[in-house]
Amino acid sequence: MTMEMLLGVEALFAVLLGLVVGSFLGVVAHRLPLMLERAWADHCAETIGAKAPSRPHYNLFRPPSHCPACKHRLGILENIPLVSWLLQRGHCRACGSFIGWREPLVEVAAAALALLVVWRFGPDWDRAFAAIFVWMLLLAAVIDIQRGWLPDEVTGPMLWIGLVANLGGRFASPEDAVIGAVAGYLSLWLVYWGFRLATGREGMGLGDLHLLAAIGAWTGWQALPGVILLSALLGLLWAAVACLALGRSRAEPMPFGPMLALAGLVALVWPDSLAGLLTGVSPALA
Ligand SMILES: [Zn+2]
Repeated sequence: MTMEMLLGVEALFAVLLGLVVGSFLGVVAHRLPLMLERAWADHCAETIGAKAPSRPHYNLFRPPSHCPACKHRLGILENIPLVSWLLQRGHCRACGSFIGWREPLVEVAAAALALLVVWRFGPDWDRAFAAIFVWMLLLAAVIDIQRGWLPDEVTGPMLWIGLVANLGGRFASPEDAVIGAVAGYLSLWLVYWGFRLATGREGMGLGDLHLLAAIGAWTGWQALPGVILLSALLGLLWAAVACLALGRSRAEPMPFGPMLALAGLVALVWPDSLAGLLTGVSPALA
């Protein structure tokens, strides 16, 4: 097999795997927050001595995929990532209601991230771990956009998988990864409490602290100033677009997780450009 053919096969495999993983991430992003909210409600009921309401099982696999409008259960042919959505033009085959954009968008994003990782990392464990990292960033971003909070059930495993990935110094030395996790948490913790003491409001969610700690565990502490700077710039840009072009109110809370996730992605895939951004901005600030 020639080099070009091999690259083509790798890219095709990456896209297919990305679509399948994206399909699963879409389910997790939708169901995990609901599962957690149910568990908390049950816990609250238990605490005050009330009886938790009985309801049908709900987890990542049950009930099986179905149309939210008419409860029509999806067959195998309606469950093919992206292809089914395109063939049905985004509509349920039973009732014709619009399925929505989330699923195909997450699938395409996961496939694009898989291609990016294949292009940037060699065919070994670096590539496998990098794929896990970028897909988890995508999951965190999607949940934060949809629900406005980030579950520890996502950021926690992301942190410790990052530490395991760096045991052998894959993306950062083990020392830099541990310091990165601590520094990521601590830096935003100071911002969080500084803002809260000054204004009496929460400037960001605690999930953002956990996400930056997880990013630090993957990239090492050296990348964190660049990640914070880039995510702040992205946040300002998005706030300007949202207020000026989309007519959103300034008081409306803006999820910061997607900005951190995007900056974390840049930190792993293009570490040099992030360092360049920092050296480019620091003389301008001085
Ligand atoms: Zn339907």
